[in-house]
Amino acid sequence: MAITTDLTTAQIIARGEAHIVKTYKRPPIVLSHGRGVRAWDTDGREYLDFAAGIAVNALGHADAGIAAVLAEQAAKLIHTSNLYYTLPQIALAERLTAHSFADRVFFTNSGTEANEAAIKFARKYARLTFNAAEKTQIVCFDHAFHGRTVGSLALTPKEAYQAPFRPLMPDVLVLPFGDPTALEQISERVCAVFIEPIQGEGGIHEASPDFLRALRARCDQVGALLVFDEVQCGLGRTGDLWAHAASGVQPDLMTLAKPLAGGLPIGALLATERVAAALTYGDHGSTFAGSPLITAVANYVFDRISAPEFLEHVQRVGSYLKARLEAISSPLIKEVRGRGLMLGIEFAGDLAASVVEQGYAHGLLLVGAGTSVLRVIPPLIVSESECDLFIERLIAILAKL
Ligand SMILES: *Cc1c(COP(=O)(O)O)cnc(C)c1O
Repeated sequence: MAITTDLTTAQIIARGEAHIVKTYKRPPIVLSHGRGVRAWDTDGREYLDFAAGIAVNALGHADAGIAAVLAEQAAKLIHTSNLYYTLPQIALAERLTAHSFADRVFFTNSGTEANEAAIKFARKYARLTFNAAEKTQIVCFDHAFHGRTVGSLALTPKEAYQAPFRPLMPDVLVLPFGDPTALEQISERVCAVFIEPIQGEGGIHEASPDFLRALRARCDQVGALLVFDEVQCGLGRTGDLWAHAASGVQPDLMTLAKPLAGGLPIGALLATERVAAALTYGDHGSTFAGSPLITAVANYVFDRISAPEFLEHVQRVGSYLKARLEAISSPLIKEVRGRGLMLGIEFAGDLAASVVEQGYAHGLLLVGAGTSVLRVIPPLIVSESECDLFIERLIAILAKL
């Protein structure tokens, strides 16, 4: 099948159903193009995209700047492997370290791979620093999502995700999210604690600054590394460059991915010199990661997102959107959570799937988090009037349920 086609939407979907592994349950639409916060399907229907490719398309669809950088770099050098230096990769590492706690960066192709790298860095660091073979335990929290590969899946304590694939990485301790009294269970055996400063997939739950501070203190007491998974909440989504900024707590490692290259696959593990120094030639690697093509785009995306006026825009529109959500008077809404443009609506019941489903007929692309939460994670360039349109359509959906 050619990429351009005369097939009907139903025919395209039938072909997809015949040949793609059924790990994603998809609606009967085929997206063909987008611009900004809007996307269109092959039947010409327009959607307001408030899923943003799961918090990936920070600059929306078809950003002219991304397209230009991509075309220019594609015509120069796409891939070299990590056997060689390239300027775009070095420039991105400089940007990420200049704007964070970190001194060094390890590039990956996705969020889960960044977390896998963090697991390996933590294990190696503990082995080298404490000379203790048994300091291998890793702590994560209830409702965490750190990825789908066998290591990061072990840190994603959701029965439906884990059960079919056991045994997973052993030596994981799951603690209740946000409960400071549980932190005593972090023992000297722990080499790393993984936490999302704001849980995304788990339903938009914020860790309080006090909890993060207590966690930092406990990690320091037992010699465990603190790992912030900012794959979803980082890079401007909260209106700060980093979600942890508001707490004043610094991690030892931080993982990034979703929006970093504006929709191209990338991940990054940011590390302090102390931790990065534990790694030596050959300890870890990736064929594709940090390619000149993708890092050229990421440099562009990072410069746009990290500009103070861009972050102010996210803060302003995020507050506006949250206030408008809170003002909806509906018995179906239990709570509105989150900050910046990382918001969640908790419904009174398992309504998330129905709202997402109704969204298609109402011109909205939406994404849930679990059964009762709708994530509101539009492109960061979203305007107040686009938020108004979203609210109008959401109210119409709630009225029908
Ligand atoms: C999406 C996500 C991941 C996994 O990223 P992939 O690129 O899908 O592997 C990890 N952590 C968090 C917090 C995420 O939201």
